[in-house]
Amino acid sequence: MLGAMQHWPLRITRLIDHAEREHGPREIVSRYAAGDVVRTDWAGIARDARRLANALERLGMKPGDRIATLAMNHGRHLVAWYGVIGMGGVLHTVNPRLFEEQLVYICNHAEDRILFYDAAFAPIVEKLRPQLTTVEHYICFDPAAGDVGFEDLIAPESADYAWVDGDERDPAMLCYTSGTTGNPKGVLYEHRSTVLHALTEVMPDVFALSNRSVGLPIVPMFHAAAWGLPFAAPIVGMKLVFSADYTPHVMCDLMRDEGVTHTAGVPTVWLALIGHVEATGAEMGPLQIVTIGGSAAPRAMIEWFMKRGIQVGHAWGMTEMSPLGTCGGRPANWDDMDWAEQLDLVSKQGRAPFGVELRTVDDDGNVLPRDGRTSGRLQARGPWIVERYFKADEPSTEDGGWFDTGDVAILHTDGVLQITDRSKDVIKSGGEWISSIDLENAAVGCPGVAEAAAVGVPHPKWDERPILLVVRREGTNVSEADILDHLRNHVAKWWLPDEILFVDSLPHTATGKLLKTAIRDQYRDYKLK
Ligand code: ADP
Repeated sequence: MLGAMQHWPLRITRLIDHAEREHGPREIVSRYAAGDVVRTDWAGIARDARRLANALERLGMKPGDRIATLAMNHGRHLVAWYGVIGMGGVLHTVNPRLFEEQLVYICNHAEDRILFYDAAFAPIVEKLRPQLTTVEHYICFDPAAGDVGFEDLIAPESADYAWVDGDERDPAMLCYTSGTTGNPKGVLYEHRSTVLHALTEVMPDVFALSNRSVGLPIVPMFHAAAWGLPFAAPIVGMKLVFSADYTPHVMCDLMRDEGVTHTAGVPTVWLALIGHVEATGAEMGPLQIVTIGGSAAPRAMIEWFMKRGIQVGHAWGMTEMSPLGTCGGRPANWDDMDWAEQLDLVSKQGRAPFGVELRTVDDDGNVLPRDGRTSGRLQARGPWIVERYFKADEPSTEDGGWFDTGDVAILHTDGVLQITDRSKDVIKSGGEWISSIDLENAAVGCPGVAEAAAVGVPHPKWDERPILLVVRREGTNVSEADILDHLRNHVAKWWLPDEILFVDSLPHTATGKLLKTAIRDQYRDYKLK
């Protein structure tokens, strides 16, 4: 026997319908790359998305077809999201920072039929065009480029359109992991998984979103769907602010002028922003909550925000998890903690919300205790976590539906997650593990250190020993001895790097993280002095 309530498939179209109906006039502001600021609202986004859906049908698109975007954050991109998904298409957000051969691989693998792109990426599109075997139409988001312009495409279309209906488990979105090894892998999000993920994100202990919130997603829309913010926002009808330009002064101006209360991005973005605020005294407006994720947030960065009365939500996740895995909300005993305890807590990655189950296992698959000490391979399961990669024959999960995240972590007695490393990045010295993340984060807490990367290099006695690569903060001359002195207060003695090398810059992945594989390759045969 089934229950007797209404069947209401969890379709993404319901999100935009809700925002249009209940929060139509709430603003959506976009600052485009050329500097122009365009204002619309949820009703405008919904209307244009229906126009686009009509245009896509006119171009012969069918439900299930993959339609790609190569674009930064802006309102037209948001229209494309809801228009493509609304006509039953699968929206494929492509990361423009990938290498050319990776871009060719993923667009051909996805069999994209249309490519929407920003004029700023026209040079990339020109290189790709002869190699993309399935793309039939190129549409430019900005006016006055060679291909059909987005506004010209939708202008003649009717704003009447009935969204394509279907099963809540239909595919809606395709995101590829940036693939630091091998070919990128596609993760195919569903309508249902996306809606459940979005409902979770608005919760107080996750992103804490409400109708009064003004959100500036600094995480790009091509990076795990801007962490799902464009789907969570319509649930509460908050104002959204987009910027196609990540220059710190542009973001500070937007935060102040648009009254941004919530923002989210990777640590590298905040490093730049903090540097700008420190140098110029720029105002950040009424900012209340900063969500930091994508790689570990350094304690010094967390403290910088908290000292200014800004709450930090430290989030952990991955493309395979839509991407939310955990977020550091304030627990019941927050007010009883002193400053250092609060900082310790926020430096960890927070707790799993309802919908995410976590466990750690050893190399033989035995489940490890949540004792705040034992580290192991972190596994996860839940309705917005990948089961199998796009076009893969085999599932990516083990018995019981557990997905191995590739991260090494400690679970604490209160459920708090502490990521200690990527399994490939761990430094193994004398059979014991040294956390490269902890070393790096301790190092960037040393005045004068802008960025640091810890990698293991061969050692005759210990197998591997850590070295630390350091980028100095501009205008400073911090020395090896200064950094070692600082580290001695923060890490065990046997963790101290055998050598510290100063470099001008460090390589990053397409999503702004340290590219550890490249760094490891470069120092693979490094001879310690
Ligand atoms: P990409 O490299 O394609 O951007 P993801 O965004 O999916 O890939 O990366 C996910 C990985 O990023 C996680 O498995 C984890 O190693 C790392 N990560 C994400 N958030 C955090 C965090 N808060 N602390 C430490 N590591 C993190």
